[in-house]
Amino acid sequence: MRNGENGLWLESWRTARAVVNAMSVTLKNFLRKPVTVQYPDVKREYPDRFRGILALTYDPKTAEENCIGCRLCEYVCPPQVIKVEMLKAEKRNYAKSFFLELYACEFCELCVQVCPTDAIIMMKSFDLATSDRRELLLDKDRLHQLGLMFEPSWATGEKLRIMQAPPKVERKAELGKKTGEEGTE
Ligand code: SF4
Ligand code: SF4
Repeated sequence: MRNGENGLWLESWRTARAVVNAMSVTLKNFLRKPVTVQYPDVKREYPDRFRGILALTYDPKTAEENCIGCRLCEYVCPPQVIKVEMLKAEKRNYAKSFFLELYACEFCELCVQVCPTDAIIMMKSFDLATSDRRELLLDKDRLHQLGLMFEPSWATGEKLRIMQAPPKVERKAELGKKTGEEGTE
């Protein structure tokens, strides 16, 4: 009988403690400032390296399209969502057509990295929600339009290549060491 009474008290104590713990968590969160914002009325500031929607750029000096239709982005794209057709011209080449299936994009940024003319970039926005999948098949005009609509992210092909190149000083030292070793052999 005594054992039964002890068990009951122990169980009641455990239950009361669990309720107090749970209520303290609820109370803490009840008094905390909300972490959500009223999107799209309120927009968060995106970090500089945000990988958002893709876009094509113009040269701000000449207002010409930066894309030369080289198709490097098409070759490197893992899910193969880019299709480019080159238009050969006298002084430089252009993209005759450029299609990007954004609905299947992995946002890996490889296309940005390989682009020799910084023609394809990512924007600080993902604001392209739609219930019609066809709207996410972006053609050249739409990609250029998106490039003017949103703020560009930090990365361009040139910046990424510079960032990922091995440091020159180390390479020089390595080369020097190698030449020295060869000379003593
Ligand atoms: S971000 Fe990656 S997946 Fe998307 S288009 Fe570029 S290379 Fe392809
Ligand atoms: S976006 Fe860049 S990599 Fe792609 S076709 Fe144009 S120039 Fe070449």
